[in-house]
Amino acid sequence: MAEVLVYVDHVDGAVRKPTLELLTLARRIGEPVAVHLGAGADTAAATLAEYGAVKVLAADAPEFADYLVVPKVDALQAACDAASADGSPAAVLLPSSAEGKEIAARLALRLGSGIITDAVDLEAGDEGPVATQSVFAAAFTTKSRVSKGTPVITVKPNSAAPEAAPAAGTVEQLPVSFGELATGTKVVSRKERESTGRPELTEAAIVVSGGRGVGGAENFNVVEALADSLGAAVGASRAAVDAGWYPHSSQVGQTGKTVSPQLYVAAGISGAIQHRAGMQTSKTIVAVNKDAEAPIFDLVDYGVVGDLFEVVPQLTEEVTAR
Ligand code: FAD
Repeated sequence: MAEVLVYVDHVDGAVRKPTLELLTLARRIGEPVAVHLGAGADTAAATLAEYGAVKVLAADAPEFADYLVVPKVDALQAACDAASADGSPAAVLLPSSAEGKEIAARLALRLGSGIITDAVDLEAGDEGPVATQSVFAAAFTTKSRVSKGTPVITVKPNSAAPEAAPAAGTVEQLPVSFGELATGTKVVSRKERESTGRPELTEAAIVVSGGRGVGGAENFNVVEALADSLGAAVGASRAAVDAGWYPHSSQVGQTGKTVSPQLYVAAGISGAIQHRAGMQTSKTIVAVNKDAEAPIFDLVDYGVVGDLFEVVPQLTEEVTAR
């Protein structure tokens, strides 16, 4: 069976959930081989093996340390060269993050092949892997495949539920030689964002989001308080983000992040199609909106018609009391 290279998204060997989703999808189209760049491959290997990696190709070098993409492209190209027996690799899979997409585009160019971004599903096809994309705010799905060379495919987080399928996960060193471009960029400073202590939006089991109905940045503490009582991440609609009330990194929707938590609470959000595109696959959806006709109520499992400034604090109080 042809190998499928899976780029490992990790922090010092702690594998992030989108990688487990990629390994799950990779098994449908071939044998997953994880490519782990930077420190922590030995730590990561057990998790990668648990989710089906038959092999972990590991490379560590100072060049990987600063979140620069070109050294990673060099390494993935080396991994493709190493795998290039028997029609391998069948594909290279990366998460649809800003970094993943930049690496993917550069890699496809190097390989002279094609790229598919923001896939939401993958299946084996007679002429290579077929990717499903969700377009026009999830009004349509399209299926496509790369018709030349090794397909490079980025997959949106939360597109598949990670399923364990233990495999060998043997760690092998991947020799990488860096090209001129890899050392052509240097990080001159880095400012860490203050940690909120909340889970990462796309990985959280519960998300509480606020929209225009929240009415101002200062009122987001109502949303945050509920989120904290539930151990949830905080999301926002584009209207709230555009108004400068909450950072773009928290935007849920077509031009923001896609979330698929166990529970999604929408407070003061009307439920525009572009917002739905980022949250409609959530397992349970709850909305608080003072307009009984708001389109979000077509989507919810539980809806409360009321003023969020009355309803949400009561909810927070109730959850905190338990
Ligand atoms: P509104 O639609 O204004 O709704 C506010 C809601 O709050 C109303 O339903 C109102 O009844 C309710 N409300 C007001 N006060 C209260 C109160 N006190 N208590 C309870 N309820 C109250 N949007 C996204 O969210 N994410 C995206 O990624 C995104 N991408 C887009 C991409 C494109 C190309 C375009 C054209 C649009 C995009 N949008 C996106 C914008 C989208 O169309 C909507 O404009 C946006 O989602 C509206 O945000 P909202 O629901 O917070 O605001």
